[in-house]
Amino acid sequence: MAKVPDPRLEGGLWCHEVLEALQGYVADTLSSQERDAVEAHLRRCDQCARFGGAYSEVVVALRRELTQPEALDRARADRLADRLRSVTDEP
Ligand SMILES: [Zn+2]
Repeated sequence: MAKVPDPRLEGGLWCHEVLEALQGYVADTLSSQERDAVEAHLRRCDQCARFGGAYSEVVVALRRELTQPEALDRARADRLADRLRSVTDEP
């Protein structure tokens, strides 16, 4: 196992909670409160990109979106969801 960084609490969520919520985030099944919390966390936490391991590519892409003025568009969100599914389907 890779070294796990110290957990961080940002936006009312711990890193592992954000990673668990990511699948719902990209699938757009979270409540607006949950989305806000995930976004607030990712904006402040550069650790999730490393903590995430296989998720890191998705987290990095999300962080890039969140720091740009335009919202995450649907096509990009769908691609991220596919990417995330391919990651989580691995044994
Ligand atoms: Zn984090």
